[in-house]
Amino acid sequence: MSYVSVVFRCGCEGHVQVYGSRRDRERKAEWIADRRDCEDCYRAELEKKREAELAAAREQAADWELPALEGTEKQIVWAERIRAGYATAVEKVREGDHLERNDEEGDFEAGVSKVFAKSESRFWIDTIRDRDPDVAAVRRHMMEVGRKARIEPVVDGPTVVRPAGMEPISSVEILHVPGEVRLSTSRKECETFIDAIKDIGFRWGGMHWMFDCGCSPVSHDAVAAGIALEVLALGYSAILPQPTVAELVQSGGFERDPPRKLLAAARGRAFLFRWRRSDDIFDTVKSLPGARWDSPYMRVPATSANEVLDLAEQFGFWISSPATKLAESLVTIEVGGETVVLGQPTALSATPLSGGIHADLRDH
Ligand SMILES: [Zn+2]
Repeated sequence: MSYVSVVFRCGCEGHVQVYGSRRDRERKAEWIADRRDCEDCYRAELEKKREAELAAAREQAADWELPALEGTEKQIVWAERIRAGYATAVEKVREGDHLERNDEEGDFEAGVSKVFAKSESRFWIDTIRDRDPDVAAVRRHMMEVGRKARIEPVVDGPTVVRPAGMEPISSVEILHVPGEVRLSTSRKECETFIDAIKDIGFRWGGMHWMFDCGCSPVSHDAVAAGIALEVLALGYSAILPQPTVAELVQSGGFERDPPRKLLAAARGRAFLFRWRRSDDIFDTVKSLPGARWDSPYMRVPATSANEVLDLAEQFGFWISSPATKLAESLVTIEVGGETVVLGQPTALSATPLSGGIHADLRDH
């Protein structure tokens, strides 16, 4: 097996599994270890960050005198974070006198009052899918007002965001089209940059780099904005032709695309796990019954639904609704040492009826 011992960014020792020639493996393993913490530290850090976010969200909700949220415990926690994101964005829009100048009718505040009166967790969770017309209206105003207020007016051409406190190495254009985010560079980029964008999940499409974002819980704008932040962190300027993306990048008030995802395959009854290359959980996911690497996914047969859901939950994978539906249709039970899958046609076509109905069962 191609394991390479490494010291992770957090200082813990461990190993990563990489494929390629020996020389390549060592270089890649080092590259991966330099950029990430070990699994334990990663999860501890994530937990800490979530708790801090939640505490801040609750403080803000108390300050705003927002209604207590209703729903399951998990839904409430998620909804609280999303609501806090909106509240922060609203505060940004309210700064200065931009509203007086740009929203004389007071449409923005009217929308805010309507939306923030909502107390169902489900409502807030659904806002990230843009289903509610009131939320969409508030968002539109946020974009409009924010654009007029903060972004320099651009006559013809995109917004350019420069990395903080440094001369940009070069610039990268980020644009989304249906189903994917495209990234175009102005020159041949260095290996570190290429490695970093491949890690996000980009692949070279001949003209530009492409990242499939059809299966994301957040909007395409938010996926593109998240990528722009990563590009900026690498020391590159981000050229943003879409004003909605530029607005998100500058306000920072948006939900990021989760790097760990559990999806359902379009064909065949299988689950697809997706994560970042530098996220060393290959072995863990590969240990699921029937798991097979099907680049860029780990494909796991639907019959392993119970194990798949356990692992997804334990490692904080975002679960798509088709994956949830698939899992719900596949409850497995143990019968006489054999696993029987309920809800799958093969399991249900048990013994064909022959010779009619048993005499005892017949109506007289
Ligand atoms: Zn560690």
